[in-house]
Amino acid sequence: MLRSTGSQLFAFREVDLRVAAELLLKNILSESRHQLPLDLANRVIISEELGITEFFELLKLNIKGLVTKSGGVTSHVAIVARCNGIPYIIVPQLDINDITDNSQVIIDALNGLLILEPDESTLKLYGIKAENYWKTLEKIAKYAHEKAATLDGYNVKVLCNVGNLEDARIASTLGCDGIGLFRIEFLYMRDKPPTVSDLRNVFEKVASFFENKPVVVRAPDIGGDKSVSYISLKEDNPFMGLRGIRLLLEYKEDLFKPFLETFLEAFKNHNNLKLLLPMVSRVSEVLGTVELIEETAKKMNIDVSNLELGVMVEVPSTAILIDKFAETGKIRFVSYGTNDLTQYVLAVDRTNPKVGVIYDDLDPSVLRLLSFSMNKAAKSNLEIEVCGELASRQLAIPILLSLGVKGLSVNYSVVGVVKYTVRGVSLQEVKKQVLPRVLNSSNSREVREALKQYLSLKGLALLA
Ligand code: PEP
Ligand code: MG
Repeated sequence: MLRSTGSQLFAFREVDLRVAAELLLKNILSESRHQLPLDLANRVIISEELGITEFFELLKLNIKGLVTKSGGVTSHVAIVARCNGIPYIIVPQLDINDITDNSQVIIDALNGLLILEPDESTLKLYGIKAENYWKTLEKIAKYAHEKAATLDGYNVKVLCNVGNLEDARIASTLGCDGIGLFRIEFLYMRDKPPTVSDLRNVFEKVASFFENKPVVVRAPDIGGDKSVSYISLKEDNPFMGLRGIRLLLEYKEDLFKPFLETFLEAFKNHNNLKLLLPMVSRVSEVLGTVELIEETAKKMNIDVSNLELGVMVEVPSTAILIDKFAETGKIRFVSYGTNDLTQYVLAVDRTNPKVGVIYDDLDPSVLRLLSFSMNKAAKSNLEIEVCGELASRQLAIPILLSLGVKGLSVNYSVVGVVKYTVRGVSLQEVKKQVLPRVLNSSNSREVREALKQYLSLKGLALLA
């Protein structure tokens, strides 16, 4: 029934139900949950569809790559895959019947290609390509521990996006300047919310991994494609519904207050912790949150005058009115969530492969809105960061810097690539030669052309 609604979103729920049913049956039949028919280590997983929970299971089995028929490039499966260095592509025309357990495949994730049963010469060619790719990455890895400053001395922070403590621990060894986005909601995607002691443990540990470096914790961004079983929302369009800060303010007692209490308790001992609000679309949401923070802090006798509060800019209304958010005097920084901003600007569901070709965070409309909004944010003295996937995209780096971005929060696997790119560009050149051309483009192809030309002019190899 869910599938026949024709809605991509409900189709995903169908997958969740089916997986749950299979697990239940296996348990009834006393089969171990991990008893998969094959040893999956070093194998490419090819599947019609995959939920984030299934993917977390597969990750533990050391899979080598992932191909699905449905999904979106900024779906949470894609984000987690990228973060873990797992090549992942979506092939809408995939016919799973063409493939057997022993098929040989090549995933060219840089170009979005799946090659079935490659011949000898293709295998050889890709062998060389892969070797060159890894060698270049190895060479670039050393940049991860260098400072990120452009040729003309513009400094940026390269931060990491993480979804759990293990990611954060790894990121802390890779030379990044802190955490720019901790997707804490992944902790909530179980059968019940995390306990106070679960949260306490995470905040304490992540803050101490980074000691004097910033750690931006996002208040749980539940809703959209990150639904939780213990809140039944029954919405026709969850991406436009009760999500992020809207949901937190609605479920204040059960969710937001316990989260804030634990966060503030950790902040008392670790003032490198910063708080970021997801899916903000109105100034009143910030004011409502601040009221709650102040009330909670007072009750707990904690001084929050130094707590840095930030707003995610994921909704066009927030991008447009950013100076009005600044005028409240309550926020210090903004973090542009280009994954959602793109879906809301282009009216394209980020998880729906049917409109996947329209979804493009390098679309000039997205870049013009960023330019408009960042200009206002800078004038309002807000620190500007980007934590959407755009920041992890090598091609986008010159343009983001030229718009006034001070912090790029990226997947930890690309810290080296990002720093290497920052160090190879001249901000003045980009502002004069590239930015006007990009903002005057009619489509993302023209944007890409302008950016590719500039990167190759500077001798920067294209890597992501
Ligand atoms: C974004 O929307 O760009 C973002 C970083 O948040 P998420 O991808 O978790 O929705
Ligand atoms: Mg988002």
